[in-house]
Amino acid sequence: MAGPVAIAVPGKFYLTLHYNSPEPVAVGARVAVTVCNKPQVGVVLEHGNAPPHVRLKNISAVLDQQPLLDAATSKLLRWAAQYYAHPLGDVVCSALPTLLAAGEPAQRSTTTFYRQQQPANADAVAALTNGRSKQQQALYQELASSNGLSQAQLKQLGHKPAAVKALVEKGLVVTSEQPESCAINAQPIAGPELNPEQAEAVAALQAAHGEHRCFVLQGVTGSGKTEVYLQAAQHCLDKQQAVLILVPEIGLTPQFLRRVQQRLAAPITVLHSGLNASQRKDNWLLAQSGEAKVVIGTRSAIFAPIPELGLIVVDEEHDPAFKQQEQMRYHARDLAVVRAHQNNIPIVLGSATPSGETLANIQRGQYQLLALTQRATGQALPKIEAIDLRSQTLKSSLSQQLINRIQTHSDAGNQVMLFLNRRGVAPVLLCHECGWSADCHRCDTRMTLHRGQYRDMLRCHHCDASRPAPQQCDSCGSSNLISAGAGTAGLEEALQQLFPNKTILRVDRDSAGSSKRLHAALEQATQGKADILVGTQMLAKGHHFPKLTLVGIVDADAGLYSSDYRAPERLAQQVVQVAGRAGREAPGEVFIQTHMPEHPALQALINKGYDHAINGLLAERQASLLPPYSHMALVRISHTRADRAETFARYLSQLANQINPQAMVMGPITAPMPRKANRWRFQVLIQTTARSQRSQLLAQLVPTADQHKLASGVRWSVDVDPIDFF
Ligand code: ADP
Ligand code: ZN
Ligand code: ZN
Repeated sequence: MAGPVAIAVPGKFYLTLHYNSPEPVAVGARVAVTVCNKPQVGVVLEHGNAPPHVRLKNISAVLDQQPLLDAATSKLLRWAAQYYAHPLGDVVCSALPTLLAAGEPAQRSTTTFYRQQQPANADAVAALTNGRSKQQQALYQELASSNGLSQAQLKQLGHKPAAVKALVEKGLVVTSEQPESCAINAQPIAGPELNPEQAEAVAALQAAHGEHRCFVLQGVTGSGKTEVYLQAAQHCLDKQQAVLILVPEIGLTPQFLRRVQQRLAAPITVLHSGLNASQRKDNWLLAQSGEAKVVIGTRSAIFAPIPELGLIVVDEEHDPAFKQQEQMRYHARDLAVVRAHQNNIPIVLGSATPSGETLANIQRGQYQLLALTQRATGQALPKIEAIDLRSQTLKSSLSQQLINRIQTHSDAGNQVMLFLNRRGVAPVLLCHECGWSADCHRCDTRMTLHRGQYRDMLRCHHCDASRPAPQQCDSCGSSNLISAGAGTAGLEEALQQLFPNKTILRVDRDSAGSSKRLHAALEQATQGKADILVGTQMLAKGHHFPKLTLVGIVDADAGLYSSDYRAPERLAQQVVQVAGRAGREAPGEVFIQTHMPEHPALQALINKGYDHAINGLLAERQASLLPPYSHMALVRISHTRADRAETFARYLSQLANQINPQAMVMGPITAPMPRKANRWRFQVLIQTTARSQRSQLLAQLVPTADQHKLASGVRWSVDVDPIDFF
C-alpha cells in the first residue's frame, strides 16, 4: 500500500514519525528516510493514521519488498517500549542486527557448500574405502548423512580443510555457492528413558500445546531438566512448530548447543553476542525466514522474529544475566512470558533456584510448578554447613576449619572450589567479635562502607544519611571492625602460600578476560587439572566437575548484610548452585563462612532448603512492600557537575510526585558510587502499588523531563523492575 505510513527510527522518539510513501510498502519493511537532514533507516509500523493538516515528507526509498519484522514481533517490541519507558524507535531499530539496522540487504551471505557427488564414481569410492585416510572416510560418511555442509559447519564438526580438498580433487565431493543455512543432524541420538517426574513434566508441556500456560521446571542441577526441554521441543517440532531456547550466558551455549544438536533432527541456529556482525545477520535471517526451527540464544534473542513459534524455554530463569543493564533495561525472562502470552503458546522457566518473583507467581496460581526432586544420576545432594567466623583468626578470609577441610579433600585427590562473589554487592562494616553491623539510624537498613583517602564513611543508600565510620563496635566496644570483603586475587595468593604443592586456578572476569580464555580455564578445571579452584559466580554455572567434592563459600556476609533487599536471595541461589557442582560423582560437602550464622535466611536454607528460605524472604518483602509486592522504577542521573545532576534529579522527583501523588518517590539520593568517570551520580526511586500506575506515571514523566531545559548535559535512564541499585 502506498500513502501515509508511521515509521520507527532510531533516536529519542517516543512516538512514531509520519511520512508519505509514494510506492507500496509493507508493514514491517525497512525504509530509508531523512530525519533532521540526516539519512536514517526506519521500520514501517503501520499504514495511514497520519496527523491531519500536516504535509508529510516522502520516504527516500523502500528497502524491503517483504516485511522484515512480523506482526507478532512488532507487538512485543511495542509492549516493551511502553513497559520499559523507552523510545519506540530505538527499541524497534536495536532489535535488528546491526547490519540490517544500517540498511544492508536482507540476504544471507553466500558460502561454499560440500556435497557427495551423485551418482558416485564406484572406483573412486572403492579406492577411498580401501585407502588409509580415516579423516577422508569420516568426512565422506558425514556428507552422506546430510544434504550438504558449509565450510564453517565442517570446521565445527572437526573436519580438516586438507581432507575436504582431497575429496574434491578425487571427484567424490562437489561444491556449490549457496546462502548460509542451518546444519541439520540427520542421525540424532535417542535420549534416556524419562523418570516418572520428567515424563509428567513433558506430558504437561505437551498437553499445553497451542495455549498459553507458564510452567516452572524446578530441579537441582543434574535432575534432568535439559532432557525435559529436549523432549518437549521434539514434540513441538513434530507439530511443525519452532522452539526458542533462551540461556543466560554465551559461555553456556557451546556445550548446550552440542547437546541439542546431537538430539534434535532440526535446523538449529544460535544468536548471541559472540557472533560477528555478519554471522549475526545470517543467523537472525535464518530465524526470521522460518528456516531455523530451533533458535538458541542469549537475552536479545527474545526479539528475533520466529514464524510458527510453538514453545519458549528459559533455562536458569533466575539468572541476572537476563536483565539488560544499559539502553532499554529489559528482562528477557519477563519478556519471554509476555511473548508466550501474546502468541498463545506455552513457556517453561527452568531453574534449580527459581527467583522470588517466579515463586510468588506459583503461589498466586499464575504459574504451574513441575518439580524434579531427584538427581537423574541418583547421587545425593551435598550437606551444607555454616562456619561461624566470629572471633576466629582468619588467614586471608579463611578459617582454620575450612583450611583443614581443603587439606583433607585435596589430599584425598579430590577437587576443591572456593567461591567468592562480591559483584554488585556494596561492602558493609561489621564487628569481627560479635557480628554487629553499622545500621542507618533513620532507615531499617545497613549502611554501605565508602573507603576514603583520609577516613572511611558510612552512607545509607536509602536516605543518603552519612557519618564517619566508627573505630569501635557500637554493641561490644571491640575495635576489631572489618569490611565484608576481600578479592579473589588476594585469596589466590593466600592459598598459594597455604598449599604450595597444589595447583590453584582462579576463574573470574579479570583472570578470564575473553570467553576463549574462560573456556580454556573451565576445560582445565573439568579435566581435574586443578586441585583448588577459586572464582566468582562464573564457576557456579552449568559446568560439570567430576572430581569436585568440597565447596567453600568464603564470604556469605556481603549477601546477608547487604542493603540491597535482593542480596540474600542471590546468596541462597549461589549456595544452591555451587552446591550443585559438588559431589556429582562422589559425596560432597559445602561450607559457608559467615559472621551471622543465625541469619534466618541462612538457617532456613541450611535446615529446610531453598524454597523455605525464599518464602521467608518473600514474607519480609511483602511486609515492607518491596517487589514483587510493589513495583519500582529506578532513575539514574549523572552530570559532570554535581549541582546540575542534583537539580535535575530534584525536578524529576517533584514531577513524579505531581503526576501521581500516590506514588512513593524517594530521592534524589546520591548513588552508592557517587562519582564515576568524573560524572556525579544521583538516583530517584519510584514505587507504586500497581504496575499500571507506574506505567502511566512513566509515560508522562519520561518524555516531559526529556524535553525540559534542565535535562541538557544530563545523562539519565529509567530502570523498570531494577535488579540492582548501583
Ligand atoms: P539438568 O539440566 O537438570 O542439569 P540434565 O538434563 O543435564 O540435568 O541431566 C543430567 C545428566 O543426567 C545428563 O547426563 C543426562 O543425560 C542424564 N539424564 C537425564 N535424564 C535422565 C534419565 N531419565 N535417565 C538417565 N539419565 C538421565
Ligand atoms: Zn561487636
Ligand atoms: Zn537511611
